[in-house]
Amino acid sequence: MNKRSWAEPYKIKMVEHLRVTTKADREKAAAEAGYNTFLLKSDDVYIDLLTDSGTSAMSDRQWAGMMIGDEAYAGSQNFYHLEQTIRECYGYKHVIPTHQGRGAEHILSKLCIKDGDTVPGNMYFTTTRLHQELVGGQFADVIIDQAHDPDSELPFKGNVDLNKLARLIEQVGPQRIPYLALHATVNMAGGQPISMANARDVSAMCRKFGIKVFMDATRAVENCYFIKKREAGYADRSLQEILRELCAYTDGCTMSGKKDCLVNIGGFLALNDDDLADAARNMVVVYEGLHTYGGLAGRDMEAMAVGIRESLQFDHMRARIGQVEYLGELLRKGDVPIVRPIGGHGVFLNAARFLPHIPCEQFPAQTLAAALYVDSGVRAMERGAVSAGRDPKTGKNHFPELELVRLTIPRRVYTQAHMDVTAESVIELHGNRDKIVGLRITYEPKHLRFFQARFEPVEGSKVLRD
Ligand SMILES: *Cc1c(COP(=O)(O)O)cnc(C)c1O
Repeated sequence: MNKRSWAEPYKIKMVEHLRVTTKADREKAAAEAGYNTFLLKSDDVYIDLLTDSGTSAMSDRQWAGMMIGDEAYAGSQNFYHLEQTIRECYGYKHVIPTHQGRGAEHILSKLCIKDGDTVPGNMYFTTTRLHQELVGGQFADVIIDQAHDPDSELPFKGNVDLNKLARLIEQVGPQRIPYLALHATVNMAGGQPISMANARDVSAMCRKFGIKVFMDATRAVENCYFIKKREAGYADRSLQEILRELCAYTDGCTMSGKKDCLVNIGGFLALNDDDLADAARNMVVVYEGLHTYGGLAGRDMEAMAVGIRESLQFDHMRARIGQVEYLGELLRKGDVPIVRPIGGHGVFLNAARFLPHIPCEQFPAQTLAAALYVDSGVRAMERGAVSAGRDPKTGKNHFPELELVRLTIPRRVYTQAHMDVTAESVIELHGNRDKIVGLRITYEPKHLRFFQARFEPVEGSKVLRD
């Protein structure tokens, strides 16, 4: 049979021009940004793979939704549309909108965690862990060991290790564990999914001890696509059916609408418990806005409601994850060390192996992201020691096993040709890796340092020598 390809299930109605820069321009811009890709001006970037957060292209239907924003302070029609959509698609009872995901994390952490509590999770996410720590909680990693191994080919590398969880419950006691944070997919492990069987088992164990389970549902629909493709018994189920089952194993979720939900801003907290939802509605007024808008305009809530339905269309998700896979396969064939299996929202370069001559104290992932920008104007993100920060007690750097650079693919934004250009740059850079010079920190903020820290090359004035 001849090869039959699939293509994006949409066509392009409006374009945004990209600025092409020279290498000299980019060297200057990189130095001015302290070799931190978060501090670059987007106008200096050619292909922006910093994040898939809030960078998706909205559909014509979402834009049409923006025009029917009901900008009432209280009780906007768009809130009720969003609430109904989340109830139907995710299955949770109460919906509290927030300006983005961390707004929901803030409220959940404040309401549930007491000083000295432990919050287990299948790896951490930066903002999630910080909100837990700010209210006196301590994060405990209960993800399976293979998640820390970039070469393990397990299909569900995001799974919780039930033995680790059981041991933790025994050690600290169930009364000191307010909830387990279940990430689907696991961003920091390379966008790796959890299996339905694992969610079911985690839920059963937690319920036995009276521990709640809250899902970080930011990319739960992407997770459901992997369940459909990889887990026995789910091939014929719709993404919608799979999502409802997954959510049913949990007591609620925090959500960054800027990912799965295909909007540029927005999020929500969803809960099943009536009393907890009342307390959350009361608290959202303090930090975000009234409980029927939570920091969002009516039009933002409308766009999110429409985006949630679109995220559950199989053709959309196949093209979304298919594009990530396409880039990953190009890099793999080019012998670039990447995290396997290829994740849901991006391709993760194994910077430790890419730059074996740069010690972890010189931040190989930060360095590689800076060098890639200088080479081709592709902007990526560090996900390694800089993101991991310092131990709050000892002040020592965390050096996680995974020292990664994330090439994150915005949804419905770039074409296959953009993926080709990106792969060509990464492959050529890999060939020239000896020309890459490590970095040291010159400025470090207290919280979430990766956003604003500044660096300089450890020798000379260039991160990528000529
Ligand atoms: C982006 C993200 C968050 C935080 O959401 P924001 O909308 O950026 O505040 C939380 N968890 C995960 C897994 C994320 O990717």
